[in-house]
Amino acid sequence: MLQAIWDNIKGLYSLLVGMSITGRYLLSPVETIHYPRQVVADEIMASFRGPIQLTKGKKDPAQTRCISCQMCVKACPGHCLSVTKGDTKAPAQWLYDFSYCCLCGACVETCPTGALEFSHKVYLVTLTREELILDLLADLQKRAAILPESQPVPTANLAPPTVPDVESIGEPK
Ligand code: SF4
Ligand code: SF4
Repeated sequence: MLQAIWDNIKGLYSLLVGMSITGRYLLSPVETIHYPRQVVADEIMASFRGPIQLTKGKKDPAQTRCISCQMCVKACPGHCLSVTKGDTKAPAQWLYDFSYCCLCGACVETCPTGALEFSHKVYLVTLTREELILDLLADLQKRAAILPESQPVPTANLAPPTVPDVESIGEPK
């Protein structure tokens, strides 16, 4: 009998502890967003480590700093990268298979010219795995010419998703 009463008291105490935690989070500010009606705020996006991209050239933003040295290709544990040298040091083709990337940063750290960086692209969505093979030279030119924060250009010719009816808490990318 005494044991049953004690068990009930412990159960009630456990329930109250759980409910107090639930109540605390219920009253605290919301940390999530209602995508796609809302988008992530710029200051939060800045700390997001998204798929890698080529950094813009110092003189010409559309020119890559890559010298086709292949160090990133050798450093990548996921074998995600393919850099084809052109007639000059500059690459003729720069492909990145994001489906194998673990975002370890080895390529970014290894690059001797600072040609790689993490993007802040949080909205990259594809319907097929092939679309995750990204042409980073095309992406660089698109970012330099059109939008400073455009989505990577999929090698398959499908446009990235649009965000309908945005009621933003930050500006859409
Ligand atoms: S972040 Fe890591 S896994 Fe991804 S491409 Fe770079 S080296 Fe490869
Ligand atoms: S390490 Fe840098 S310079 Fe070398 S191939 Fe990779 S991106 Fe280009």
